[in-house]
Amino acid sequence: MENKFHLTIITPDRELFIGEVVSLNSEGSEGHFGILPNHAPMIATLVPTVTTFQDVSGKQHTAFTSDGVFKVNNNKAVLLCNSAEWPEEIDKERAEKAKERAESRMKEKDKNLDSTRVQLALLRALARLKLAQQI
Ligand code: ATP
Repeated sequence: MENKFHLTIITPDRELFIGEVVSLNSEGSEGHFGILPNHAPMIATLVPTVTTFQDVSGKQHTAFTSDGVFKVNNNKAVLLCNSAEWPEEIDKERAEKAKERAESRMKEKDKNLDSTRVQLALLRALARLKLAQQI
């Protein structure tokens, strides 16, 4: 039995983290989930959230991860998401504006509104703001 697993967090633009970890917590469309070494194979749709993980040196990491997909199999976990940032990279004002934009679109009640898209935009902004407030 292994006491660690390999984690990759990638977006179309960057590799946020690649390394050995002992635990991971993130969120999928069916709720929060936690991964430990030797986890059963699993696939999930990711929603924008604050993802945390502990590396093999014991250091705790926290990052914003956007919508995407998650897979774990054979002690290899991958978060493939549309965007991801470390807390210090988050532009709080930009996230505030994105939140206001999404909220005002929701209030417009436009029948052509792509509500899933707006909800995801709001979730991205809220998760970024939550993380930015933690630093
Ligand atoms: P916005 O409407 O402000 O672009 P968004 O949620 O639509 O926000 P994303 O599609 O998630 O943005 O990301 C597009 C790019 O912009 C990614 O590279 C992402 O890392 C970056 N990004 C978006 N918002 C922020 C932010 N508040 N702080 C830092 N980087 C951001």
